[in-house]
Amino acid sequence: MTLKPPPLRNDCFALPAGVEWTPVDQALAQLRARLGAVTAVQEVPVAEALGRVLAKDVIARRSNPPQANSAVDGYGFAGAVEEGAHVLPLVDGRAAAGVPFGGVVPAGQAIRILTGAALPEGVDTVILEEDVTVGEGQIAFRGPLKRGANARRAGEDVAEGDVALPQGRQVTPADLALLAAVGVGTVPVRAPLRVAVVSTGDELVEPGQVAGPGQIFDANRVMLLAMIGRFGFTPVDMGRVGDDRAALRARLDQAAEQADVILTSGGASAGDEDHVSALLREAGAMQEWRVAIKPGRPLALGLWNGAPVFGLPGNPVAAMVCTLVFARPALCQMAGMGWQEPVGFDVPAAFEKRKKPGRREYLRARMRDGRAEVFASEGSGRISGLSWAEGLVEIGDGERHIRPGDPVRFLPYGSFGL
Ligand code: AMP
Ligand code: MG
Repeated sequence: MTLKPPPLRNDCFALPAGVEWTPVDQALAQLRARLGAVTAVQEVPVAEALGRVLAKDVIARRSNPPQANSAVDGYGFAGAVEEGAHVLPLVDGRAAAGVPFGGVVPAGQAIRILTGAALPEGVDTVILEEDVTVGEGQIAFRGPLKRGANARRAGEDVAEGDVALPQGRQVTPADLALLAAVGVGTVPVRAPLRVAVVSTGDELVEPGQVAGPGQIFDANRVMLLAMIGRFGFTPVDMGRVGDDRAALRARLDQAAEQADVILTSGGASAGDEDHVSALLREAGAMQEWRVAIKPGRPLALGLWNGAPVFGLPGNPVAAMVCTLVFARPALCQMAGMGWQEPVGFDVPAAFEKRKKPGRREYLRARMRDGRAEVFASEGSGRISGLSWAEGLVEIGDGERHIRPGDPVRFLPYGSFGL
């Protein structure tokens, strides 16, 4: 008997009939509902809090500014001032930042005041020194000037007792300034989430080594470890494993001990050498995620000794997109940050594309001249396109014919924390 090939299918990219493809949003909703914070809480000095996740709301211990003060170098008095020319006698003395004037400024008189100085009693308004002529013991200037001009009110920024920063916030450099300003010295933060990364595949060779025929360099691992670092988590490098079930089993055991969550790449579909999905299925905690996403399927999700495993596709483009779209929000949730979605922008397309219904697509993209350009090839092995891109264009699940100038959603890499 001769072996017959199956009939050709001209719809080989269509979704298989009779198979449920989970829409991206449904898959995300499931992850969101099932995962929670897993990291311990500790107290650290503000100076060590950069990138850490706040475990509780942080309350302002002091108002910012703590007292009314001058926003400029000039002369302070009680406002308002009507239109026209004015002459005010100067009080003896001066108010400077950190060196307040202890007396009272009588009505109808002014005092020399510098930026940041607390407003003395009797002063609620400041005129810029550039707008003043200074004479012997007096100043002359022109109105009008509103009451409160060039002055900052106590607590106008943050009031004592307010929530300065919310629980779940990943602390930024600006947050450090805010925490310091409102008198906070230490903050409760979560221990960094430990994320293990394992590459799988007999074909993989360490970058920089000699690669024989049929071998390729492990591109995913350096990328994934770096992404985890950028997300603010602790990358745990678990190396490479060949397509060997026992070896992979042992490596997953180690990874589950050393990390809170595991990312693997490769071996996630249902083929002969797809040992990640096979092992997760064997462990009985496997969800094969037939997610309607391009690039990206298949994705294997499961638990290994209690640690969630994201079995990412082997193709680097799919591995990166799946990490950004699925793993990152889930990792954020586990890290105590709550569910994090990227902030996108609707911008005009610089390209044309026809897209079939039934799956969500992510294109490697970048902004030039106010329009989103996409990489010339959509091939999921085209690593240079990932590097060329500065973000992704997300195209919704439905059918679409995008023409140049049509609005598309651009998600900068930065909005994913990269
Ligand atoms: P797999 O999902 O294991 O069938 O892999 C799909 C494709 O991705 C194959 O062409 C693999 O050689 C490739 N691939 C898998 N892992 C990596 C990796 N770590 N770096 C670069 N390419 C990979
Ligand atoms: Mg493989």
